Amino acid sequence: MSETPKPAPTLVVEDIHKSFGNVEVLKGVSLTAYEHDVIAILGSSGSGKSTFLRCINLLEMPDQGRVSIRGELIEMKDGKNRAAANPRQIERLRTRLSMVFQQFNLWAHMTVLQNVIEAPVHVLKLDKKTAIARAEAMLEKVGLSNKLDAYPAQLSGGQQQRVAIARALAMEPDVLLFDEPTSALDPELVGEVLKVMRDLANEGRTMLVVTHEMGFAREVADRVMFLHQGRVEEEGTPEEMFTNPKSERFRQFLSSAR
Ligand code: ADP
Ligand code: MG
Repeated sequence: MSETPKPAPTLVVEDIHKSFGNVEVLKGVSLTAYEHDVIAILGSSGSGKSTFLRCINLLEMPDQGRVSIRGELIEMKDGKNRAAANPRQIERLRTRLSMVFQQFNLWAHMTVLQNVIEAPVHVLKLDKKTAIARAEAMLEKVGLSNKLDAYPAQLSGGQQQRVAIARALAMEPDVLLFDEPTSALDPELVGEVLKVMRDLANEGRTMLVVTHEMGFAREVADRVMFLHQGRVEEEGTPEEMFTNPKSERFRQFLSSAR
């Protein structure tokens, strides 16, 4: 009997180091995501979660480490990222990894539809008609087909975040990165955004999700990673991590999160 070969990972992040001044915020963080994986990244405030996500899509240049996406390797050394010094490679990497931020980051002077077609037209160079069709489909997916011509200020926080998700999807990325997507929302609006994220997970999207929503991490994630002071303190399946946490710090984190 031959074994089915394991598919190549979608995203491999190895040994990321990042300092600000003389403070080392990431001390060698690694992560591997296979297609369809949903990985929840947990940790207290200041543990390095945002910096880690930002280093993965090179919004922040790591001091050291490697990121490879679908086999294309980007290596960082001494802050002088030789391979990624090629701006085209950075741009290609960013189009494959779409980020959803805590503060939505929509363009205030553009309508919902314009927000969603902006990058597909200007970065992917899609023709406008194709971009609009794609944007409409993504906005339907997040339940906002009736808001195409609205401006962000006319929308609730939950609606704005769903636009931001549609905007990320419109790039057809290999991996979606979420940085505390529900933390800026009023409690009654959190559910609608989590529902969209759940749907995306069920569709088989590959996702890295920094979150304080323990229910989401527990029910939706395939794997959980707990960062503490710039290191992976514990990782595993949600079952392992939530029913039988090994590290004292993760236990404390869980009890304070309840
Ligand atoms: P988290 O997202 O887990 O709350 P961050 O990655 O935002 O943590 O921050 C980790 C640490 O790095 C914090 O101590 C923060 O103050 C520091 N930090 C983050 N970004 C910067 C920056 N641009 N300049 C200086 N320090 C930063
Ligand atoms: Mg953060």
